[in-house]
Amino acid sequence: MQHRKLAFIGAGNMTRSIVAGLVSSGYPKELIIASNRSRPKLDALQEELGIKVTQSNDEAIAFADAIVLSVKPQMMEDVCAAFDQSIDLSGKLFMSIAAGLPVARLQEMLGGKYPLVRIMPNTPSLLGQGMSGLYANADVSDSDRDYVTGVMGAVGKTLWVEKEDDINGVIAAAGSSPAYFFLFLQAMQEECMAMGFNQQDSRQLVQQAMLGAAQMVCENPQLELSELRAQVTSKGGTTAAAVNSLIDSDLQGIVAKAMQAAVARADEMA
Ligand code: NAP
Repeated sequence: MQHRKLAFIGAGNMTRSIVAGLVSSGYPKELIIASNRSRPKLDALQEELGIKVTQSNDEAIAFADAIVLSVKPQMMEDVCAAFDQSIDLSGKLFMSIAAGLPVARLQEMLGGKYPLVRIMPNTPSLLGQGMSGLYANADVSDSDRDYVTGVMGAVGKTLWVEKEDDINGVIAAAGSSPAYFFLFLQAMQEECMAMGFNQQDSRQLVQQAMLGAAQMVCENPQLELSELRAQVTSKGGTTAAAVNSLIDSDLQGIVAKAMQAAVARADEMA
């Protein structure tokens, strides 16, 4: 992986996770700086991960060749507007992980057309098991792309999309989808409790089954999902009874409608 001088503007949860992933994969600590409005998160980052920290966004930007904008979307405009105009931003690569802010809007906020990558991470990135969608503007080079792939690879898998609209599909498939699974697990847990298991046992039954199932999916990439299902579904058996009930209730249609709702909302918010 390439090593560039890297700044994070905003040192919250997502920054912390990415920095932890980078440091544990051997990225030189002395090349990473994080800036934050308040001090405590910076002290923790410096103490635990050994990176440079500052309360000055300008100091972080001046230091770095690559800059991750990692504040909440509603803060972004003010943060960018406050950058010291005398700092030469030419040649710097910008990455934004702010949900819902399109490249054109980010360029306006930055006041110029710099190489810019919009990143849509998801919450499991906080555990190093993320799935991020990446979209680059025309100024981003192949080498920049490799670099960003490496940075976000520190907290999970990455997928480049070539049309910015496809980021909304990433949101529906990977950004919002952990919540779909939580809802599915909750429904299963509640049914376990209705069958007489206590809450703790119900939780363990469903979470371990889901973890094992996810692992089977990941470890058998050569098998279609339908084949994996067929392997655990004997004709006329219990699994077939349950699966047929889900199919009869149009699970496919329910999921499609939910994902389309996520895309529609992302379109509205863009
Ligand atoms: P967060 O924990 O709230 O972190 C944001 C940080 O920005 C805070 O530490 C805040 O400092 C700092 N900040 C605010 N104004 C600032 C300023 N003017 N200068 C410097 N720092 C400033 O948020 P997060 O969860 O890490 O999210 C960061 C970005 O990732 C957001 O844009 C979010 O949309 C995106 N994202 C997050 C997730 C996720 O799972 N967490 C998923 C997808 C996308 P204080 O400590 O002083 O408030």
